[in-house]
Amino acid sequence: MLRRDGYPIVLTADRTLMADYRVLLDGMTAASQTTRTPAAIMNHLLMPRAAHPEGQCVVAPLGLRRVEAALVRGGIDPGDIVVVDDAHLHQAIGPATLVVGISSGEPHGLGMSSSTMAGIAGGEIYPLAMFRQLLSGVRAYLQARAPQARVLLGGPGAWQLAQDTSSPSSVTPAETGVDHVVVGYSEGNVVEVFSKLLAQESLPAVTLGEGVPVDQIPPIRGATTMGVVEISRGCGLGCGFCAIATTPMGHLPTDTILADVETNLAAAKTALAALSEDFFRYGASGVHCRPATALALLEQIRALKAVRLLQLDHANIASIAQWTDGEIRQARDLLVGDQVTRRPWVNVGVETAAGELLQASGGRAKMGAIGPDTWGEVCEEQLRRLCRAGFLPMVSLLVGLPGETPEHVQQTLDWVRRFRGEAITLFPVIYAPLDGTAPPVLTRLHWDLVRECYRFNFKWTPRIYLDDQKGAGAPLSRRLLIQLLAKGQVVLWTGHLARHRRRAPA
Ligand code: SF4
Repeated sequence: MLRRDGYPIVLTADRTLMADYRVLLDGMTAASQTTRTPAAIMNHLLMPRAAHPEGQCVVAPLGLRRVEAALVRGGIDPGDIVVVDDAHLHQAIGPATLVVGISSGEPHGLGMSSSTMAGIAGGEIYPLAMFRQLLSGVRAYLQARAPQARVLLGGPGAWQLAQDTSSPSSVTPAETGVDHVVVGYSEGNVVEVFSKLLAQESLPAVTLGEGVPVDQIPPIRGATTMGVVEISRGCGLGCGFCAIATTPMGHLPTDTILADVETNLAAAKTALAALSEDFFRYGASGVHCRPATALALLEQIRALKAVRLLQLDHANIASIAQWTDGEIRQARDLLVGDQVTRRPWVNVGVETAAGELLQASGGRAKMGAIGPDTWGEVCEEQLRRLCRAGFLPMVSLLVGLPGETPEHVQQTLDWVRRFRGEAITLFPVIYAPLDGTAPPVLTRLHWDLVRECYRFNFKWTPRIYLDDQKGAGAPLSRRLLIQLLAKGQVVLWTGHLARHRRRAPA
């Protein structure tokens, strides 16, 4: 039962981040929908509400779980903290509430994937719409029951409210209904920030979060959305178009990872996702990969019999190139375990087949030892190696990079066409400057590229979705409904893409 007078600290996130997703693709699908997708489909199929036994949410975004763990480790009474979704806020906020901590991925909808989805399908991206809805609920409950409380926003989208972090006083997050923003990993100073709010002391509009060394990251105290388990954080390769470019990569110790896995398993989250910007770099010294360390980690996770589905998210070409075919195959086998149907997908950032364009856009570091002249060729070779080992690569491409010429676009289009017949998906994202200025206008050639990519996606995305859902044990009815929805999406998106191409300048 929740406390009648509310909790001093209420932690929450919008519904797209707090839903009870069974697999990683569930969360990615929900987050990529725009308000053109009917609310009934979102509410009943794509964003199922998580259970709240005893009033506390069973799952929460990883970032909120780390904040919760850091607060408790820093001496705050766990009984003073509650983690709830938007539907349970009214039970959690009361006269005792002093802080509402919100995690957000898209408070302004500035993420490139979000602006691409909204640009193609129309409407507003759901994470933004749901964030607005959450904030309006929070403000209403605070006004009625806890006017003294302040709203603190963090999470992967915090940068969108605090773009000029070098000049915090120039930022006015209050315009959005948020009183304070914390940017970046914050286990190092989150206790200080919350303590000030609990003591009703002043706090700057924007505080830069302070991370801790990876061996001091506190294990989580509750299960995570999509069964996400952090294995590395940051990246540090420094791509000019990336929000985490300057955060160095650190690898979490095996003990912390396994403790987080066990916490998820204890909450019956048996489909896990090993989260990192580059799985193939787990345990690396700088950019020099240590496949044996990454494989040993997978072996230890797979040895836990309750683990059903083991998913990866990101990987870098330059790291894959350091693994042998046998090691890649071993990773695939460990991910699949004893399931016979699975073809694990992994998101690989290629961005463009034109190496000199990637270099000029600030992407030189991610190319490692690969020269700009051979970037496209090497990417093709590494992706085919993944395919041969039984992976299904999910390639991300950036279109409209500054300095891009029609020849660059044609080069990437020809490169994509070379994959015909291969099991692969390719997701083009329209470049959007990090400062929030307008994205480029796409030409017909750009739309030819986008359409060519979606020919692969229309074929393979529903299949890998089905594969993951089977692996996670999703009921047949749900699998069939999603497949039906996918067929509808294909028809809809074919129309959207054709219309955009027709209207685009030559
Ligand atoms: S390699 Fe990927 S995650 Fe790392 S900085 Fe570049 S785009 Fe960002």
